Amino acid sequence: MAKYNVHAGHCPAGGTGSGAVGYLNESTEARNVKNSLVSTLKTSGQTVYDCTVNSNMSASACLSQIVAMCNKHAVDLDISIHLNAGGGTGTEVYYYSNDMKSKAAAISAAIAKALGIKDRGAKQNTSLYVLRNTKSKALLIECCFVDNTTDKAAWNAAKCASAIAETLLGKSVITTSTTTSLTSGFRYQGHVQNIGWQNYVPAGGTAWVTGQSKRLEAIRINPDGITIEAKAHIQNKGWVDYGKITKDTIIGTTGQKNRLECLLLKGNIQYRVHVQSSGWTAWTRADGVATMGTVGQALRIEAIQIKKV
Ligand SMILES: [Zn+2]
Repeated sequence: MAKYNVHAGHCPAGGTGSGAVGYLNESTEARNVKNSLVSTLKTSGQTVYDCTVNSNMSASACLSQIVAMCNKHAVDLDISIHLNAGGGTGTEVYYYSNDMKSKAAAISAAIAKALGIKDRGAKQNTSLYVLRNTKSKALLIECCFVDNTTDKAAWNAAKCASAIAETLLGKSVITTSTTTSLTSGFRYQGHVQNIGWQNYVPAGGTAWVTGQSKRLEAIRINPDGITIEAKAHIQNKGWVDYGKITKDTIIGTTGQKNRLECLLLKGNIQYRVHVQSSGWTAWTRADGVATMGTVGQALRIEAIQIKKV
C-alpha cells in the first residue's frame, strides 16, 4: 500500500487564487477530480492526505500553504490536480525528476484515453512551485483545457479521476470496489444499470464505482441492528417513503431503468453520494432532514458510501 498527498491546485472558486476559468472552472473541476481520486485511493486501502487549500488567498499564498501541508507527510507521491488554459487541447503531466517521467506519461495517456482527448504527454518542469518545493516525488496533472470546446465537451471529472487511480494502482478500480462480498454485519449493496446487484460492501465501502457513467437504480442496506428510515427520489416516480427499512427493503427500483436521484436517510449513520457530473457530496449525518443528491435536475446518483456514527 502506498501513501499519497493529493490536492486541487488552487483556492475555492470565485477567489483571487482560484485558477483558470473558461468553459470549465478550474477550481471546481480540479476539486471534483481530487475528491473522486482521494475516495477511490482510500477505498482501495491506500493512505491519502488531502492537501487542498479551502479558503481564499493570493495564488502564491495558496501554493505555499499547499506545499507546507504536503511536506508534513513523507509520501510516495504528491499529486497536484489542475486544468490548463491558454489555447491548447488535451492532457499533459509535469514531472520534476527523470525517474517520474514514465509515470507522468502513463497518467497523461490514461486520462487522454478515458476522455477521448489529445495526449500531450509527460513534460519535465523544474520551475513550477509545487514540483520544486515538495519533498516527496511529485506530479502536476493538467487534466484538460478549460478554454477549449473539445475538451469541455469531453470533460468528466470522475472518469479523469478513475484514469489516474487505475494508473497509480495498476488495476481496474471496478475490481477493487466490487470484490468484497459480506454475509454478516452492517453492509449495503447497489443495483447498477445494465449490471444488477453488486456485492455487499462494509461500512465505508463504495457501492458501485465512480467514473463509469452508470446509474445506481437501487440500494439495499442490512442495518444489523441500527434503526434506519429511508426516503428516495426516483426518476419517473418522485419521492417514495420506505419508513423503517429491513435488510430486504429495496430502496429504488430494479428492472425499470429508473435512476436514483436523491436520498433522505435517518439513523445513526453518515453517508454521501456521488452525483453525475458533480462528484461526491460532503459526508452528512443521516438526520432525516438533509438530502443527498438532486431533485428536478435529471442527474443520476452513481455511488453511495455509508458509515456508522
Ligand atoms: Zn492551475
